[in-house]
Amino acid sequence: MQRMEVLKSIRTGMFIGGELMAARSGKTFAVYDPAAGVEIAQVADGDSEDVGMAVDIAKHALEADAWRRMPPAMRERLLLKLADLVEAHGDELAALETLNQGKLLGFSKMLEVGGSAQWLRYMAGWATKIEGSTLDLSLGFPPGVRYQASTRRVPAGVVAAIVPWNFPLLMAVWKIAPALACGCTVVLKPAEETPLTAIRLAELAHQAGFPPGVLNVVTGRGETAGAALVCHPAVSKVTFTGSTEVGRIIGAQCGADIKRVSLELGGKSPVIVLDDCDPRKAIEGAASAVFFNHGQVCTAGSRLYVPRARFDEIVGGVAAVADSLVLGSGFDERAQMGPLVSARHRDKVVGMIDEGRAQGGEILCGGGAAPGDGYFVKPTVVANAFCEPLSLVRKEVFGPVLVAMPYDDLDEVIAAANASEYGLGASVWTNQLDKALAVVDRIEAGTVWVNSHNMVDPALPFGGFKASGVGREHGKAIIDAYTETRSICFAY
Ligand code: NAP
Ligand code: MG
Repeated sequence: MQRMEVLKSIRTGMFIGGELMAARSGKTFAVYDPAAGVEIAQVADGDSEDVGMAVDIAKHALEADAWRRMPPAMRERLLLKLADLVEAHGDELAALETLNQGKLLGFSKMLEVGGSAQWLRYMAGWATKIEGSTLDLSLGFPPGVRYQASTRRVPAGVVAAIVPWNFPLLMAVWKIAPALACGCTVVLKPAEETPLTAIRLAELAHQAGFPPGVLNVVTGRGETAGAALVCHPAVSKVTFTGSTEVGRIIGAQCGADIKRVSLELGGKSPVIVLDDCDPRKAIEGAASAVFFNHGQVCTAGSRLYVPRARFDEIVGGVAAVADSLVLGSGFDERAQMGPLVSARHRDKVVGMIDEGRAQGGEILCGGGAAPGDGYFVKPTVVANAFCEPLSLVRKEVFGPVLVAMPYDDLDEVIAAANASEYGLGASVWTNQLDKALAVVDRIEAGTVWVNSHNMVDPALPFGGFKASGVGREHGKAIIDAYTETRSICFAY
């Protein structure tokens, strides 16, 4: 589907209780096409009143027999049906995501649509595998009475899911699929920049047969709709992906409310090239680690560490790849990199490049915005040959900006890689198993890739050490995240 065609399929309402609706206030906000820098829709600007209604409806749906008594196998079937519908509407969803988020259409198809179907199917399988245990207790009172107990995993309750704009559809599915598999109901708030695919996802869930109110979407701003959702007393669990800054606010609120919370936050992930590396693989790998999705990836490999003797060869190679990348609309088949998501984000990224330059970083390529109406930033490589304390080494850019440092020995590079408040991802590039394992053992990161980067799978736990988050998504541990344990004690 092309740009003009998909413009017609845009939905602009919130999806609450099985219906599309305007905000109670009647207010709307503008949504843009970042490749052209033009407004494409006015979407319902939900606030605390709309959130209150959505949570009440989600709470009601949680307690309604149609959901509470639904056999797990039926929840599995509904999730599988939703996966089929996401694929059947894949062309439209992918085009909508490219239009609104800016990513290349091929990646929208493969990751937003293909990944969403994959995650929905994987999580569907867990619905029928949620189990407790049976225990013999040692209580001895009153005499002659014995005790046996069992545990049961019960749905956590109404889940508030708040997601960012870098993978709008996939991040929404990462939250809703396990929550629904576990029998929770959900109120989802997409990022204000990219609400369009979340609305369609909720419509498709309705079409798949999820009862009204089980999955609701409130579009709106973080400070209003998002904040109201987090502190609503009928929300039992908050799952958030976004910046560390907002994660701190949400974590503090959930702490005060004693509410369950998972936080997937920012990163400044190191890419560590070892001296034996295959240069072609290391160069291609480092370039894709940072430029994939235009750098708007929480695990983006945004710090590159290279042995001093190979610094010019490897870093020069990455700069040559960056220089060769063709920027353009995600609908243009020649484009290899699209725009950043918003004018505000482009300006922030350009500001950080300028700061790096002013602090003494050597700009090897790129170095600023690309001309035109869209929010494009040239892929940028900054050499930091003297390992100056540039802010680019510490701060998450969330754009196509790489900072590269030389190192002399393994202890030094591990210490440098760990000298970050973040600990989300890392990669090491080598063919020597002992060295790879030495790095893997000592890196403070939730995921360490060897000879790859940014690879995620529904079976593989994902999350951060340090300020990169609390909790893990995916894999079988996800059941713990969306259920509570109820202990049941029998005297006989
Ligand atoms: P953000 O500003 O933190 O926003 C994320 C979401 O939180 C948006 O829906 C936002 O709404 C909402 N929000 C903002 N303030 C809020 C508040 N006070 N209460 C409740 N909700 C609030 O992040 P972003 O700029 O969209 O995304 C980029 C960040 O996400 C990066 O730092 C990146 O590293 C991180 N990220 C992490 C992962 C991971 O898995 N660890 C994955 C992807 C992205 P509005 O959009 O309406 O402001
Ligand atoms: Mg935001």
